[in-house]
Amino acid sequence: MTDQPVRAAQPRQVSPRTAPAATEIRQVRPRAEGWSQKKDAEGRPALQFASPKRGKPPVHLADLTPEQRVEKTKELGLPGFRAAQLETHYFTHYTSDPAQMTDLPASGREELVAGMLPPLLTEVRTLKTDRGDTIKFLWKLHDGALVESVLMRYPGRITLCVSSQAGCGMNCPFCATGQAGLTRNMSAAEIVEQIVRANRVIREGGLGPAEHDGERVTNIVFMGMGEPLANYARVMQAVRVMVDKKHGLGMSARGITVSTVGLVPAITKLANEGVPVTFALSLHAPDDHLRDELIPVNSRWKVDEALDAARDYFEKTGRRVSIEYALIKDMNDHGWRADLLAEKLNARGRGWVHVNPIPLNPTPGSIWTSSEVSVQREFVRRLNDAGIPTTLRDTRGKEIDGACGQLVATAEDEADAADTRVGADRHS
Ligand code: SAH
Repeated sequence: MTDQPVRAAQPRQVSPRTAPAATEIRQVRPRAEGWSQKKDAEGRPALQFASPKRGKPPVHLADLTPEQRVEKTKELGLPGFRAAQLETHYFTHYTSDPAQMTDLPASGREELVAGMLPPLLTEVRTLKTDRGDTIKFLWKLHDGALVESVLMRYPGRITLCVSSQAGCGMNCPFCATGQAGLTRNMSAAEIVEQIVRANRVIREGGLGPAEHDGERVTNIVFMGMGEPLANYARVMQAVRVMVDKKHGLGMSARGITVSTVGLVPAITKLANEGVPVTFALSLHAPDDHLRDELIPVNSRWKVDEALDAARDYFEKTGRRVSIEYALIKDMNDHGWRADLLAEKLNARGRGWVHVNPIPLNPTPGSIWTSSEVSVQREFVRRLNDAGIPTTLRDTRGKEIDGACGQLVATAEDEADAADTRVGADRHS
């Protein structure tokens, strides 16, 4: 890695109209302190797809199909219909506390609840913004692994940013989670439990006065820790539970956004699931020359393959897809890159996609910085002028390190929590 200015190759696809001037394509390659791209034995950027073997989290009702829940209830010595009562307690009342389940017979209740709704997340710390409309949760999993979720109130909706893995194996240099490596996949129930716990906090008034009765999380974004499509089966089970009206949370699929770094075979699989979640692709560069550097997974699936898969997602589901683009100063924020992105998107049709640029959020020890405001505006303007709906994403939670790319739950956070604890443990 060098901190000398490097010259980006001019991508072949650029038309003469958008060809950059020599001065425009000079770029300083930012360098995170001590960072160099990890390589595998073949010299390709190192990626961790497989989850390291660790003790499995306890099986929970949300890991099971409705039929399996009935079976397990019987195994625990109670009639199968009791499973439905547990579902109501968990998905409607957000409780796993047997003392509150007075409709269940006292004898066998504790055992049933222990077997079906084991504790999964222990609250280590919650941080709230001054305005009280954003809360970051630090959770400890059964084996000590740490994850975070971020709850955000907007007018008319409440969004929860959930984690799908403890850590992440995708190694993106500008993302704090990516730099910490993969600890393990989360179970479906560990993913769902983040929502149930957030709903409980909302009901208890933790996110301020309710706008209406029964207020709860309406939107989910898989933009916390982890690469959701590298934990495909568990993420899909969690999504099924989120949308199931009878045996789950009954949320709308379109309110759920799955964001990926671009695992093409998994995108294709997702497109064929018949669950029309919103799909987001973290592109960050329209040319392979730069994307190889920014997104190590680009060594496996190139820009055009990822865009083809995104377009295919739109065709199969009818859902307009989002392209995420973190604007990094002098790195990927050149006008010609906006033009090239527009060209590549328009080449695949009209009306199928929109772009969500987001000014880069600072991460510890990194000198990568956000683009200047004027550069951000110009980037957005060029895309909009080319007919691509583009809106700069509002960043929430920066002051509590809860914004995109800043989630890196550490043992230090856990130690800090001993002093700054704002919520009691309430994992039951
Ligand atoms: N692994 C998934 C989801 C997690 S990250 C993915 O890559 O899509 C959610 C979004 O935040 C991604 O678009 C990611 O690229 C972006 N992101 C990561 N680090 C960031 C940072 N420092 N500033 C702004 N966005 C960042």
